[in-house]
Amino acid sequence: MSHDHATVAEEEYLEIMFWLEEAGLSITGANIARAMQLSPPTVHEMIGRLERDGYVTRAEDKSLLFTGEGREHAQAIVRRHRLIERFLTDVLGIPWDEVHEEAERLEHAMSPVLEERMLEAIGDAKTCPHGHPIVEGVREHGALLADVEPGASVLVLRFENEAEELLHYLKRAGMRPGLDGEVESSDDEGVVVISAGERLSITRSVAETVSVRADPAPPPRAPLPEALVISSDRYGR
Ligand SMILES: [Zn+2]
Ligand SMILES: [Zn+2]
Repeated sequence: MSHDHATVAEEEYLEIMFWLEEAGLSITGANIARAMQLSPPTVHEMIGRLERDGYVTRAEDKSLLFTGEGREHAQAIVRRHRLIERFLTDVLGIPWDEVHEEAERLEHAMSPVLEERMLEAIGDAKTCPHGHPIVEGVREHGALLADVEPGASVLVLRFENEAEELLHYLKRAGMRPGLDGEVESSDDEGVVVISAGERLSITRSVAETVSVRADPAPPPRAPLPEALVISSDRYGR
């Protein structure tokens, strides 16, 4: 059976699956369960529903693949999410560490007409306020800040994990996409970046979630699956 409209729950799964794929991780039940902080049986059941509704198929190795329809749907919901976030920061003036959860709510209820108007309202912006491309095909892979050697210059491209408690932490630390500086030190405890005379310090686990353009650049690597936990308090307090 095929549906014209995915349910809100299906859209949330399609979104997280797209997110995993974009980050270079395989779309598996385990990665989805970890990212969404849900139990494996819950995830298993929903994957069955997504299969029946024609959004995903199973590869030989049990990982999941989008069907054409599934990919289109996932792209659309991710695009709306990022567009809404940009609209909330740039047009409504809401701080960038407070827009992710609002976008999670609004993205499921948006008409094509509203999407068109919001796109006009954000002008030239090409990314969400956390650095993720609104339109595909313009994503610079970069490196993870945790891998960059002291002395290298860095430009922050993206925050890979948009859990709000993590965004609050990054904002308090003085980080933002587009910030440039130099890595002063990097050890088991954390990473210190000097930018415009300020010392910005973040923990190592958070540096695992920050993508940068670095010179010299370390070898590219996908984020750790546990660095993409979208909803948990593992970074909090
Ligand atoms: Zn978000
Ligand atoms: Zn974002």
